[in-house]
Amino acid sequence: MRILLTNDDGIYAQGLEALHDALLRMGTVDIVAPSVEQSGVSHSITYLEPLLAHDVFRHGRLFGKAVRGSPADCVKLAMLQICNTPPDLVVSGINAGANTGINVLYSGTVAGAIEGAFFGITSVAVSLTSSEKPDYVPAAQIATGLIEQILESETRPGGLWNLNLPELRPGWPVGVKTVPMGLGRYGEAMERRIDPRGRPYFWTMTVAGQHHTLEPGTDVEAVAEGFVTLTPLHFDLTDRRRLGESANRTWRLE
Ligand code: MN
Repeated sequence: MRILLTNDDGIYAQGLEALHDALLRMGTVDIVAPSVEQSGVSHSITYLEPLLAHDVFRHGRLFGKAVRGSPADCVKLAMLQICNTPPDLVVSGINAGANTGINVLYSGTVAGAIEGAFFGITSVAVSLTSSEKPDYVPAAQIATGLIEQILESETRPGGLWNLNLPELRPGWPVGVKTVPMGLGRYGEAMERRIDPRGRPYFWTMTVAGQHHTLEPGTDVEAVAEGFVTLTPLHFDLTDRRRLGESANRTWRLE
């Protein structure tokens, strides 16, 4: 089994290292990951500038390729230039922080997995809920066990999955749930500050716990209750229901 591993926290992130070490039990792992953090870049790509990449070593051995670009760039570059044989699996993570609800659409981690699915390869995004001292090693073991089960059950390649782990406090995780992503907006804010030259600048903030109503039956709720969540995703943005509703409509060209 050949595995391509990326993330959006950068090639030096703890979550990537832990997942690399855990995934080794499944096969060979090639790392192509951003050289610096790319959280929140979603599915952006580099195409107005050259895409630079260099080797990164760990304990004197080649660890992976660091790319001055986004997670989607990394997977694209790996598929088109770096991997001699296409991987059987693309994994993106472990992200520092959950990628549940509509955060999925901002996530560079999930975009890395989506890019893998574009190439028809089974792809899994893995994220761990933020906590004071996140422990990526057990999280990586749990994630790898679930990735193995995903591969056992997939009838054809190309399936796209979003896997989220709750905080690993005593007794958690309490189980695994397959759930849809939440659609609510919550805890968003922009903070206005003044720079030393008197000009305003802004920081995008998340306000934890404020107006926070958990949507029942979603990934947001399940992760908050201590479950590991699995959400099958697809990148077809067409609204099939409305497409059907408007099928018989005629449009005027004016
Ligand atoms: Mn991140």
